[in-house]
Amino acid sequence: MSNLFKRTKTLATIGPATDSEEMIDQLIAAGLDNCRLNFSHGTYEKMDEFIGWIRKAADKYGRHVAIVQDLQGPKIRLGQIKDNYLDINEGDDIILDYALKEHDGGLTLPVQYNLAAKVKVGDPVYIFDGKIRTHVQEILSDTAIRLTAENKGFVNSNKGLNLPDTDFGGDIFPEKDIRDLDWGVSRDFDYVALSFIQKAEDICTFRRMLDERGSQAKIIAKIETKNAVMNDEHLEEIVKAADAIMVARGDMGYEVGAEIVPIIQRKLIRMCREHAKVCIVATQTMSTMVDNPMPTRAEVSDVANAVIQGADVVMTSEETAMGKYPLETIKEICNVINYVQDHAEITPIPQDPQSGTPDYDAIAEAAAKIAAHVEADAIICQTASGRTARAMSAQRPALPIYSVTPNERVANQLSLFYGNRAYVREFSPEFGFDLAKELVENGTLTPRSGRKHVEVVIVSGDRDVAGTDTIRLRRISI
Ligand code: ATP
Ligand code: MG
Ligand code: MG
Repeated sequence: MSNLFKRTKTLATIGPATDSEEMIDQLIAAGLDNCRLNFSHGTYEKMDEFIGWIRKAADKYGRHVAIVQDLQGPKIRLGQIKDNYLDINEGDDIILDYALKEHDGGLTLPVQYNLAAKVKVGDPVYIFDGKIRTHVQEILSDTAIRLTAENKGFVNSNKGLNLPDTDFGGDIFPEKDIRDLDWGVSRDFDYVALSFIQKAEDICTFRRMLDERGSQAKIIAKIETKNAVMNDEHLEEIVKAADAIMVARGDMGYEVGAEIVPIIQRKLIRMCREHAKVCIVATQTMSTMVDNPMPTRAEVSDVANAVIQGADVVMTSEETAMGKYPLETIKEICNVINYVQDHAEITPIPQDPQSGTPDYDAIAEAAAKIAAHVEADAIICQTASGRTARAMSAQRPALPIYSVTPNERVANQLSLFYGNRAYVREFSPEFGFDLAKELVENGTLTPRSGRKHVEVVIVSGDRDVAGTDTIRLRRISI
C-alpha cells in the first residue's frame, strides 16, 4: 500500500501560466518537486521573482526544491517579424539575413545568428518547430542565405530554427549563454541545463566554466541533436560526463526524427540507471492539457511508461509555462505516478548500477535487499556530498529514501533523484536515526498496516574516513 510518497519526481517549466506567488505555492503543495526556468524566454527581473516564490513555498512546506537554469544553447531563432506575423507560401524564396536590422514585411527575415558562415547548400532548415520546411539554395553574402519553402504556413517573431545536418563546429555556448551563466552564478541555481549537447567534451568544458566561477550547480545534458545520439558508445560517454540527462523529445524529434525518440528514451533511462545519473523525460508529457483540463489516454500512458522504465523525473513544458491548466497538469501527473508505482514494477536493468565508487554501490545494493527482506518502511541515508543517496536511488528501491545532509545545496539537488527526499540537519553520527525518529513523531513515516513499529534501514559512513561503510536496522516503536 502506498503511504503516498511519490518516488518518481516532477519538474515543471515555470512561465506566464504560473506567474504568481499563489500558483507556485499551489503547485508545490500539489506535489511539484522541482522547477525549470527557461532562459530562452523572459527577463532577469522575472526570473528573480520566480526564484523568490519557489524558495518561499519550499520553505513553507519544509521541502527542498531544485531550481534548474535551462540555457538556450545554440538554438537559432528568427528576429522580430513585422507585426509578429508573416504568411509563407509553398515555393517562396526566403532570405535569412543576420545583418538585417528591421523586417519590412517581405520575405527577407532577420535571424539571430550568422548562418551564412556555417551552412552548406542543400542543408535542411526547419522553421518554427518544423512547421515550415526548407533547404538552403544559395549562400548570398557573408550574412545572408536563400531558402525555398516547401510548404505553406506562417512564422512569428523569435521562432526557433532546426538545422539537423549543419555542423556548428563545437560552437555550442553562445555569448547569451555565458551572460546568463554569469548572472545565474550570482543567484541560486541547483542545476544548469545545457541545450544541444553534441559530445562528452562539451560537458567537461562547461564544468570547467562552472568551476572557474565557483558554482556548485550540477549539469543536466539535454539530448536533442543528431550528433549526440549517433551511436551508443558516444551517448554513454555523454551520460558519464553529465550529472543528469534530459531526454529533450521536442527538438530531438525535429533534429533526428520522431520515431527514434522512444528508443532513445529507453536507452537513456537504462544508461542513466546503470551509471547512477538522473534521467529526466521531457516534452509533450501532457501537451493536450495546454488547452484541456484532462489528458489523453496516450499521454497518461506516456507518463506511466516513463515511470515503469525507471525515469527519475517527468517534466512539463508548455503545460505549465503557457497552458490553461498548469495546476491540473501537475495533479494529473502525480496521480499517474502514485498509481503506477503501486501497481507495476520498474523494469530491471541488465547491469548493476555503478556510481563510480564500488563500495557505495555494494552498500546501496545490500541496503536495498535488506530493506525489501524485512519490509522496511524507509531507507535513511546519511550523506554529505549526496553520493550515498545517489547510489541508493540508483537501486530503485520501492520505498522512500529519506536523506539527511548538512548541506542545503545537496538537499536541493537530491530532489531530482528517484525516491529521495532530503532534510538538512546539523551533522552528528546519529543524525540519520534522529531524523527517522523525528519523521515518525511528525507522522511522515508510518508503519505498514498491522505493525506497531516503524522499521528503517540506515546507511551511513564514518565521517572521518569518508565514504559509506555501515548498514543498520532500527526499530522505532509507536
Ligand atoms: P526549449 O527548446 O528550450 O524547450 P521552448 O521555446 O520550447 O524552448 P519551453 O520551455 O518548452 O520553451 O516552454 C514553452 C513555451 O512557453 C515557450 O515557447 C514560451 O512561449 C513559453 N515560455 C516558457 N518560459 C517562459 C518565460 N520564462 N517567459 C515567457 N514565456 C515563456
Ligand atoms: Mg529545446
Ligand atoms: Mg520546449
